[in-house]
Amino acid sequence: MASELLRPADPGSGYHRVLARRRFRYIRRDPAHSLRITWIAEPVVCPVCETDTDLQLVLDERTDVFVQVHCPRRHTWSDPAIDPAHFRTYSRLQWDADPDPDRMWIIDEGFGEEPAPPVDLEEVKAVAKTVGRLYKAKAKSRVRGAAGRPVRAAKRKARDAAKQPFTAAARALRGRRKGQEQEQEQLAAQSGRRRVQLGPDGKPMKVPSVAKYRKAYGAPAPKKGPACLVCEDTRTIPGTHISCTECGPA
Ligand SMILES: [Zn+2]
Ligand SMILES: [Zn+2]
Repeated sequence: MASELLRPADPGSGYHRVLARRRFRYIRRDPAHSLRITWIAEPVVCPVCETDTDLQLVLDERTDVFVQVHCPRRHTWSDPAIDPAHFRTYSRLQWDADPDPDRMWIIDEGFGEEPAPPVDLEEVKAVAKTVGRLYKAKAKSRVRGAAGRPVRAAKRKARDAAKQPFTAAARALRGRRKGQEQEQEQLAAQSGRRRVQLGPDGKPMKVPSVAKYRKAYGAPAPKKGPACLVCEDTRTIPGTHISCTECGPA
């Protein structure tokens, strides 16, 4: 029996074999309709264990009168409910590269393996969510990697330079130091220690001089005080004719 199960299907020579993962249905005439022929589709079920999926249906035209059904729990029975002609047609339709449309009616009436259930939208959504999360994590790690790259590159550069003559190593070191300085400058600008005011466009804002402000508001400029605080630039000590010694001889 087992060897027969392993025989590959060959409808051309009269050996039909169908493995149905989903339920397999046969069709029978509906006795309620006598004027018009209508069919009722019924699933094939194992009479012993009531399994109705993963059934194997075999019909060897030379020896079998009815379709032999094998359930996955090794129960086998001959099923007279399945019309052998229907089964032969179905089997040939599975194999024909160019199926006869006149024979397709049995499938239209529901004969054969049930069509795949409609895709569960919720399940699709869940999968999409998981996949999306995966990509997000991947992108994040990529960004993290990019952030560490300059440092790693500098390390590599220094290490490589170490293997080279001294001048090359010195040059690399200098370049690295320069980079560090630039980095510190950037950090200082960011933390505001350098009092660089950034405009809305992110560039440092140009602050006008105090004189410009004064002019705009009409404020008088403070008068310049005397250069010499002793003679107040009169070159003589006030109230005398003695020339000022503080701002040099007259
Ligand atoms: Zn069974
Ligand atoms: Zn003076």
